[in-house]
Amino acid sequence: MKDTIAAISTPLGEGGIAIIRLSGMDALAVADRIFVSRQGKPSDFPTHTIHFGTIGQDGDLIDQVMLAVMRAPRSYTAEDVVEINCHGGLLTANRILSLCLQHGAQLAEPGEFTKRAFLNGRIDLTQAEAVMDLIRAKTDRAHQAAAHALEGHLAVKINELRDRLVTTLAHIEAHIDFPEEGIAPDTRQKLLAAIESTLESLRKLLTTAHEGKILREGVAVAIIGRPNVGKSSLMNALLGQSRAIVTPIPGTTRDTIEEVANIRGIPVRLTDTAGIRKPRGKIEEIGVQRSRKSLAHSELVLHVMDVSRPFSAADGELADRYASKPTIIVLNKIDLPKKMVLPKDFSRKHSVAVSALTGDGLELLKDKIELLTRSGTIARSEFDFAINERHAAAIRHAIKSLAGAIDEMNRSAPLELVSQQLRIALDAVGEIVGKTTTEDILQKIFSAFCIGK
Ligand code: GDP
Repeated sequence: MKDTIAAISTPLGEGGIAIIRLSGMDALAVADRIFVSRQGKPSDFPTHTIHFGTIGQDGDLIDQVMLAVMRAPRSYTAEDVVEINCHGGLLTANRILSLCLQHGAQLAEPGEFTKRAFLNGRIDLTQAEAVMDLIRAKTDRAHQAAAHALEGHLAVKINELRDRLVTTLAHIEAHIDFPEEGIAPDTRQKLLAAIESTLESLRKLLTTAHEGKILREGVAVAIIGRPNVGKSSLMNALLGQSRAIVTPIPGTTRDTIEEVANIRGIPVRLTDTAGIRKPRGKIEEIGVQRSRKSLAHSELVLHVMDVSRPFSAADGELADRYASKPTIIVLNKIDLPKKMVLPKDFSRKHSVAVSALTGDGLELLKDKIELLTRSGTIARSEFDFAINERHAAAIRHAIKSLAGAIDEMNRSAPLELVSQQLRIALDAVGEIVGKTTTEDILQKIFSAFCIGK
């Protein structure tokens, strides 16, 4: 029998309400012990109903609450679930949680509610991961991709590929079991075509990995340029109304100040590297080092120049620092009379003329940022979700094995060898949805969740 778990599912801090969630065989029994209501006991309440009552301890009132009952299997975890809505505030929620623990519940681990939903077969692993993506989405597009994955679009695609592999494998193994019948050339050809077509579908799916990385992690963009060319103004203009909702993600805090703009649905992490020049003094030196670091980590560089002033050799030196990176030369202050003539090596780069002051040219700049960050990705319409790094690794593994299987087929190797490769591919694909998953993988996925999810 599995333990009954409990956790506070709302963010810690002051708020209108806080929710304590219980899940497991004894969820209703625990609720019976702590909840008092004229309407009766939670274990008598019908499923999907909510009731007013109080929670107290040793005669003292802790809070007036609304208690919701969702019985198995029609609940988030597919177990009996009780949700207690109390007044917001850390102390109230914590006291109710302790009371639940005293009366038989165990404190939930991070992601344990979602993990149970997976283990109880209500959702597959791609949907569990989509829950996290949905919580962390910073732009509408990231949110949409996560929502589609949560609906099961990726799972459907993966299961379809698994089914195709199982069918091919069954054919091949039938021939292994009856070797005396041999394998006719046209059957071999058909099997080969089936493997090739599955391989092709996997390759297509893999092309969404880049988009997936962008939507989940955003793109790091460094804004560089000489003093007073308008870097901060440009950063503010780009942030403008398109400032993304920023939530802290473990491991992404950097030294330099980073702001996330929502540019055409892409979370763009902008850093204004004010200080790339010769440092004067210790503090400036630290600043310069930080700027260099964020330039080194950036995936795209916006080199800002002031067109109302003549070109300066210093810009040439700056350009040497990012030589190998995708770059957009932002010719700023086009609202002023133009004095700048760009040298030849600059005219070969992408450039956009803007005014951070009036907003002129900003839409063109956003188009260009979108173009350069998405380069190498497939057309938007093909899939409405994007795979993550774990899925990509499994797909690469499967592709390798299928390529191996095709090789074996082509050199008429024994069918046992072909089937071995197909089994490896099948396992790899199964890992994505959680059909063949080790405890290690689950541990890794769910430990990234918050407690109470
Ligand atoms: P930074 O040192 O590169 O960050 O430059 P700032 O953003 O602080 O801008 C320096 C000065 O240029 C400020 O006075 C801005 O108002 C001005 N400025 C920035 N962008 C423009 C622009 O597009 N047109 C005009 N006319 N002035 C601008």
